Amino acid sequence: MNEVLRIAIQKSGRLQEGSLKLLKDCGLNISNGKDQLKTQASNFPVEVLFLRDDDIPQYIEDSVADAGIIGENIFTEKQKQGEIIRRLDFAKCRLVLAVPRTEQYTGVSWLEGKNIATTYPNIVRDFLKQKSIHAGIHEISGSVEIAPGIGLADAICDIVSTGSTLFSNGLKEVELVMKSEAVLVARTLDTRKKQILNKLVFRMEAVQQARSNKYILLNCPNEAIKPITDVIPGMKSPTILPLGKPGWSSLHSVVDENDFWEKIDQLKKLGAEGILVIPIEKMIR
Ligand code: ATP
Ligand code: MG
Repeated sequence: MNEVLRIAIQKSGRLQEGSLKLLKDCGLNISNGKDQLKTQASNFPVEVLFLRDDDIPQYIEDSVADAGIIGENIFTEKQKQGEIIRRLDFAKCRLVLAVPRTEQYTGVSWLEGKNIATTYPNIVRDFLKQKSIHAGIHEISGSVEIAPGIGLADAICDIVSTGSTLFSNGLKEVELVMKSEAVLVARTLDTRKKQILNKLVFRMEAVQQARSNKYILLNCPNEAIKPITDVIPGMKSPTILPLGKPGWSSLHSVVDENDFWEKIDQLKKLGAEGILVIPIEKMIR
């Protein structure tokens, strides 16, 4: 059987590069999709469809695609069939409510009876319901941040990452509605397709783990091996090799990207020297 799993990714935009890079890092040999609607990996039973991100949930519901990589915000908004299989650690952003900076915002009750402009009407509706607020929702398809300035709405709900767009439009963030990142979504699949998906998810896990960890090598006096091992225990335990210089060892381990700098400081205090930090390509626990 030569069944393939059809995965939809964004054709162009903020998700495109990260999605393609992830699939390639998973070992899939695929071409870029410029002016292309679909492409088949030459070494893995996956076909990649290039679509607008908003359309992907519908395509998955309709079984045109088996899976897709989209922003969680779009997946939640579209309310289509499918489930989140894996969070992918890129395209991180948040969906927030913002109001003109000059407003004295006192809490969600401020929104009562107001008008909110957004491209995410379903998410906003759910948020308001949860807070028992009655407000109007004005759905628009883009340039949401100018809505208050032109008198279209009192508040907006939109995606931000740094908040600079809000700031330059005279708005301030007042409520976090949801956090979002790229997610792998799939519909219910038959056994064969499920196997392909599982295989891909296993690889994604290895790639994501590798991205968030670094391989670290250092030299230390033998007395420092124990305290240094406590700081960087690695996957099971560090590898320790004797150095040519008596009383010294080379210690190899793995360290989480997030607490990397803090650990380096601790290691130096414990007597580590000649610290090398190297990216990891794949990591399987
Ligand atoms: P399309 O043409 O495919 O409909 P689009 O213009 O709707 O694209 P993009 O701006 O490319 O969408 O954003 C795609 C997704 O990337 C968003 O739905 C969101 O999940 C994420 N995203 C948006 N803005 C940011 C940001 N500033 N930082 C990080 N991720 C973001
Ligand atoms: Mg879109």
